[in-house]
Amino acid sequence: MEWLVLIIVLLVLGIVVLPRLRLRHVLSQAFPLSYSKILRKNLPGYTRMPTDLQMQLKKRIRQFLYQKTFVGCGGLTITDEIKVTIAGKACLLLLNRESDVYPQLTHVLVYPSAFVAPRTQMNSDGIVTHTNQGLSGESWSDGRVILAWDQAAHNLDNEARGQDVVIHEFAHQLDSETGTTNGAPALKSAAAYKAWSALMEREYAQLHHAIANDIATVIDPYGATNPAEFFAVVTEAFFKKSRDLAHYHPALYEQLRAYYQVDPCDWV
Ligand SMILES: [Zn+2]
Repeated sequence: MEWLVLIIVLLVLGIVVLPRLRLRHVLSQAFPLSYSKILRKNLPGYTRMPTDLQMQLKKRIRQFLYQKTFVGCGGLTITDEIKVTIAGKACLLLLNRESDVYPQLTHVLVYPSAFVAPRTQMNSDGIVTHTNQGLSGESWSDGRVILAWDQAAHNLDNEARGQDVVIHEFAHQLDSETGTTNGAPALKSAAAYKAWSALMEREYAQLHHAIANDIATVIDPYGATNPAEFFAVVTEAFFKKSRDLAHYHPALYEQLRAYYQVDPCDWV
């Protein structure tokens, strides 16, 4: 009996207490100057963010780097620049929020450029096709995010289009934390889900209407693929085309501002 108690105490120490103490120690360390330099270079808007958000971001990045494993694929060597840039963009989505740092995520796989992913699709006639698609990012609910570094790094073309593959894939991670990736991340109440889905459905229908009528939109047409892609795409727009989104889709901007608890119009 005493042995059993001892084993339980050791398990609790090993699984719960020690990792927490180690994390607390990691978070108390000074943020390296070289990391700050990477944030200034690769995170547009970082220097204009209020100081308290910068401090929060650094703390979240520290936790992200401590808890997640980066894997270089296709011959890529993982550097501090790769890790801090990806962690920095991913953690933008967590500022001012009570959530943990992507608790289900364990690995970030990074390729030098677009990676090829085999895909199997079945059409309505039951015909199965196998294709090899070139992708710049992918989010899995089994704890992996896969990224192409040339797209994840500070990329002027993507910047001009208001696109960011890291923000996109990590929005999918938030979405999948509920157990289903359906365009609705974890919200506080049933009423919040109701309001969320009513507004998102309206905006989603509006995007389909705009595409069908050749009307230019702030929201990337890729968002019309399905509700999960819609949430990822409007999250990109919220952080990368903040003023345009606030101007043309004020209710959607307000909904995302309430969810993300920041107002990127303050620092774009
Ligand atoms: Zn996506």
